[in-house]
Amino acid sequence: MIGTNIHLMIGLESHIQLATKSKLFCSCSTNSSAEPNENTCEICLGYPGTKPTLNKEVVRKALMLAKIMNCKINYNSKFNRKIYFYPDLPKSFQITQYEEPIAVKGEFSIDVSASRLPNGANLSGAALDHSATAATEKKTIHITRAHIEEDPGKIEYVGGHIGTAKYVLVDYNRCGVPLCEVVTDPDFRSIDEAVTYVKKLFHLLSYLDIIDPNQEGVMRTDANISINGGKRVELKNISGSDALEKALKSELSRQSFLFAQGKVIEQETRMYSEETGTTILLRKKEQEEDYGYIREPDLLPITIDDAFVQDAWKQMKKLPEEVESEIISKYKLSKQIAYQLAFKRGLYAYYQSCLKYLKNSDLLAKWLVGDFLKCANWHNYEIEKCPSSEKLIEFMQMIETGKISEREGKELIKKMFDDPKKGLGDLAEKKGVDLDSVISEVLKENQKSVDQIKAGDPKAINFLIGQVLRKAGFKGDPNEIRKKLEKLLT
Ligand SMILES: [Zn+2]
Repeated sequence: MIGTNIHLMIGLESHIQLATKSKLFCSCSTNSSAEPNENTCEICLGYPGTKPTLNKEVVRKALMLAKIMNCKINYNSKFNRKIYFYPDLPKSFQITQYEEPIAVKGEFSIDVSASRLPNGANLSGAALDHSATAATEKKTIHITRAHIEEDPGKIEYVGGHIGTAKYVLVDYNRCGVPLCEVVTDPDFRSIDEAVTYVKKLFHLLSYLDIIDPNQEGVMRTDANISINGGKRVELKNISGSDALEKALKSELSRQSFLFAQGKVIEQETRMYSEETGTTILLRKKEQEEDYGYIREPDLLPITIDDAFVQDAWKQMKKLPEEVESEIISKYKLSKQIAYQLAFKRGLYAYYQSCLKYLKNSDLLAKWLVGDFLKCANWHNYEIEKCPSSEKLIEFMQMIETGKISEREGKELIKKMFDDPKKGLGDLAEKKGVDLDSVISEVLKENQKSVDQIKAGDPKAINFLIGQVLRKAGFKGDPNEIRKKLEKLLT
């Protein structure tokens, strides 16, 4: 158990892959589904004599990111070489912004009492439960800096982790992929606060298409954690908010244990192992100064003006709260429904594309924020992985025309998510119950109840509904059965 006298300090450094088609300094694709080492060229592999050229789109996306972090923009920023050897770095240096980053001194607000998000809530923000945000308190996280840098390659440890692998494979596709690293002050006082920050940041960046949430490892975080004013330990390369939570919890208990025994906590770099559920030592006492930094001689400083900044900001998509107001004024939906429709990335655009072919905007919204969203969250799907809008239009038409009941609709939506390859016709057919014929059978078998109803005793109808449900294997909607019976018997 961790005692209550522990004073916790956490600072985060998030490496965020900006959504651009090509890499930071060459025209290689950033598509992560390519074969290993397919997206490489002389520039990103650092062949002698090649020179980098800055991708302007990266600067635009970094400026968008800086805006949501409320940072001060540096109109002149520079690149450096961070020199070190590692197998994932063919040039033996990484181009990054060290002395003069593109943005500094930002502020990012998080809801503190909403930190207690449900367990298993994923980075996509899918499981953010906003019905539980009552009595929230805002906390400002100070942003030290945001700088542009290139990603190194990716090392795959075969048969274990860094300490136990049989051998390693290197994929240079990620070499030169554009990152923006956002560094916070050590402002987090609990693990929940740190997890909330990462979740909110990921949601906003995906929402505004500054990152592509479908890319693997699109946001990787290093966490600096210390207790009671002691030395800080850096946890490296944590992908996802679930892993961040586990890594911080494990490291906090390790440090608390040492502290309780009166032992010294040393400054170290560690990694979290999913396998063991603990943090593992990588190296001791590493300082930024241990790296050799020099000015990047092959690149000019980035010089931008106010027009360029404003232009980048103009291209930004609307924030969730702006989308919410638009929904309320345009479609007159309730605040609660508008909030949910606006919150999930891409859901509002999906709603609009379905609505072109449907009559009832309220009904569509109700289904989307209801069972559709529930299934999407359960599967942890971004909107691209959800059933296509064509399929949902077909589904809604079945609902609108009464071809299927509400209850059948709920089951059908689930099947659409579980079995995405099947057509709606096949999925709907499987329900296999013809209610009308079941009802006529039940009426024939229960003449006494039929007579009672006709004689003016309404209670007997409940008995008949029960019989129909039983015969139909409990696959019908009781309200629908009642309506059908009433029609036949009165
Ligand atoms: Zn390249």
